[in-house]
Amino acid sequence: MFNPSDDIKFLSGVGPQRAELLEKEIGIRTMGDMLNYFPYRYVDRSKVYRISEIDGNMPYVQLVGQIVSMEPIGEGRNRRIVGRFSDGTGFIELVWFQGLRFVGKAYKVRTTYLIFGKPTVFNGRLQINHPEIETVQDNADIPEIKGYSFRPYYHTTDKMKRGFLASAAVAKLISNLFALITDSLPETLPRPIIDQYRLMSYDEAMHNIHFPTSAEALRRAQARLKFDELFYIQLGILRYARNRKERQGGLIFTTVGDNFNTFYHKHLPFPLTEAQKRVIREIRQDMRAGYQMNRLLQGDVGSGKTLVALLCSLIAIDNGYQVVIMAPTEILAEQHLETIRRFLEGMPQLRIELLTGSVKGKKRKEIMEGILDGTIHILIGTHAVIEDNVRFRNLGFAVIDEQHRFGVAQRAKLWDKRTTPTQPHVLVMTATPIPRTLAMTLYGDLDVSVIDQLPPGRKPIRTIHQFLHHINRIHEAMRTELRKGHQVYVVYPLIEDTEKMDLENLEEGYQQMREAFPEYKVSRVHGKLKSSEKEAEMTAFAAGETQILVATTVIEVGVNVPNASVMIIMNAERFGLSQLHQLRGRVGRGAEQSYCVLVTKQELSETTRKRIQIMVDSTDGFEIAEADLKLRGPGDLEGTQQSGMAFDLKIANIARDGQILTYARSAAEQLLESDPTESLPENRIAWKRLQELRSDNINWGAIS
Ligand code: ADP
Ligand code: MG
Repeated sequence: MFNPSDDIKFLSGVGPQRAELLEKEIGIRTMGDMLNYFPYRYVDRSKVYRISEIDGNMPYVQLVGQIVSMEPIGEGRNRRIVGRFSDGTGFIELVWFQGLRFVGKAYKVRTTYLIFGKPTVFNGRLQINHPEIETVQDNADIPEIKGYSFRPYYHTTDKMKRGFLASAAVAKLISNLFALITDSLPETLPRPIIDQYRLMSYDEAMHNIHFPTSAEALRRAQARLKFDELFYIQLGILRYARNRKERQGGLIFTTVGDNFNTFYHKHLPFPLTEAQKRVIREIRQDMRAGYQMNRLLQGDVGSGKTLVALLCSLIAIDNGYQVVIMAPTEILAEQHLETIRRFLEGMPQLRIELLTGSVKGKKRKEIMEGILDGTIHILIGTHAVIEDNVRFRNLGFAVIDEQHRFGVAQRAKLWDKRTTPTQPHVLVMTATPIPRTLAMTLYGDLDVSVIDQLPPGRKPIRTIHQFLHHINRIHEAMRTELRKGHQVYVVYPLIEDTEKMDLENLEEGYQQMREAFPEYKVSRVHGKLKSSEKEAEMTAFAAGETQILVATTVIEVGVNVPNASVMIIMNAERFGLSQLHQLRGRVGRGAEQSYCVLVTKQELSETTRKRIQIMVDSTDGFEIAEADLKLRGPGDLEGTQQSGMAFDLKIANIARDGQILTYARSAAEQLLESDPTESLPENRIAWKRLQELRSDNINWGAIS
């Protein structure tokens, strides 16, 4: 009898030692865990290639032919056996470095073999190192070999391999597991959904995901299981969002009053873009709808999000509420303070204050009092504003800039800052353009607004790709801009694994700049400096006292130096596209033509070359983000790690499965709408499964 919660040690072929390995190495504790351990790759062992079709970029291939000659070559550690193998369409070398004595005895010339392995090219010749090799009797001419089918490959660790638990052994265990399963595996989706989307049954999908009977069956099994996974994530998010809206009444801001109108009609320095107006209308809608607003505002760097946040803040103030604006770093918080104070210069009745970790002593006490007695209208700060001792009189509107640095947990903490029976409206702003598919999964509980238009008059930044050995040309270009009185950023990557080397590179670059430009001053900023030093260096650059800033990505988020017109990114190949785009957004803030130079080494892989080219060709953050997601996969996308919603997607891939995600989402929406009381018998299966998954492997902790 099969019971998914039974301990894996009872499976035939496992036992206590292997059970321990399975649990420690890949987290498999139960039979159910094992069943849900999917292969990462399949090899079609029914397909036989011809040597004339083979090139060095192909994955595993299978060939049928004969060894025409075989001889040992080389001495000592270089000793190897090379067999020339032919199927009549060409030659390929089979190479063995180990087990030479066995190989020499086992394989014979003029015998037909079935060869399996990964082709490579060495010295211009096709080779397969250490092929799997089997004798073939009389079906050498048959292109489709009977009895062979798709083979699953399972991820295993070195420890597992040493414990004789390589992929093939895992496959064997799984087939032992299937032998226990006498009934069909119970269905996990409601019948109507299976019918509507013509999905494979759960039972059939689970069999085929491990041991596909055909390419088509594999494709359908994958689609079914991806749908399953995405459907339950979407159902969970949408249900949670609905319940929150129902539970959570919202502050109703009835008036657009003096503050808004005075600012809008008297002090606004430029007309709003159409996109800004539209977004403000959307926010305005939410603010009087009677439920708590949770809105994600996406807008490319420089699209004018701050102004939108400010105008909406004034509405909150007009209705007698306080506003908090939270930024991820002190520098950014200070810049917000400065920008907003400048905008509101003509309205001295509004009190705007800064609260960060470095605001101390008497000043801090004053500010705390102002927050509590309501005399502070807008509080700007870092995460210091959500510390427990910060008490508002009546917080009505919270703006979180650069959400991906904070995550959902902090957002929840802000909600708890209510002083009224209802929680404040929340606007999350991000300049990281999150592709729609990803936003749906990560922020499925947020409504989304997009500023898809830049203020007029901006000159698009010109992006240039340059190889490192042309550093002189880069210096020349810098000199031209510096002579015009402009400033230059030079950015180096800093990655934990290569931190020491990265810092050395940066230091070297800093010295180079000082030598190449003795007539200019150079600042340098990196994460290893004390925060006071960092601050001092940044401030000097922002004030124009230094002309060149050599930095790691600490400058990535938000700093605003309109006089900087050149962004040089060293080792650009090591950055993600979204990150490059963010960095590039640091220039092009003034009226002058700005430049971004992507400096790379000369040997680049095909993918890297494409990535760099996308940056050269496009300045559209969304386009770049989509491309990035396709090339890298979503796990790498900035911010997903910190998002606080750690979905471990088992099989779906958000980058590639956008279409399935869309279907899964509409199925989930439909289910929620058609069965609001969660009582229809045909859906019981779904509500039960959602419950199981919630308590099981999806991390809802941060949001529910
Ligand atoms: P974001 O935060 O979206 O990257 P900012 O809010 O910092 O962008 O705005 C970038 C710059 O554009 C600021 O200097 C801001 O004053 C200016 N700006 C904002 N809205 C407009 C507009 N409608 N017309 C002209 N300039 C604008
Ligand atoms: Mg901003």
